[in-house]
Amino acid sequence: MDVKVLSLFIQIYCEKKHGSAEKFHWEPSEKLQDLGVLPRPLLCKDCLGLIEYSANRRRLCPLDPKPTCRNCEIHCYQGDYRDMIREVMRFSGKYFLVYAFRHGLFKESWEIITHFI
Ligand SMILES: [Zn+2]
Repeated sequence: MDVKVLSLFIQIYCEKKHGSAEKFHWEPSEKLQDLGVLPRPLLCKDCLGLIEYSANRRRLCPLDPKPTCRNCEIHCYQGDYRDMIREVMRFSGKYFLVYAFRHGLFKESWEIITHFI
């Protein structure tokens, strides 16, 4: 499930950009339990909102395979969240691809990055 990979992206972004903010572990809400065991990254309040929102959108998305956002009819990311997730992808993408390559997550990561930008 790519919420796992997504949470890593957001965590890298939060570490580098919001280093001094107060951090909390993400507690996925109950309705996300059907996604299985989710990671609990340490994030600031804004980023917690983003991961919760993202995970919910993924859960509700009926499309498979997922189109890129630009070609998607649903446009599940609205307004501010869409801007935020795109910034996360642009920022964390370059850090993360190196990590992903080492950890065998390259394909998933690439799919997620290209999904959003
Ligand atoms: Zn943050």
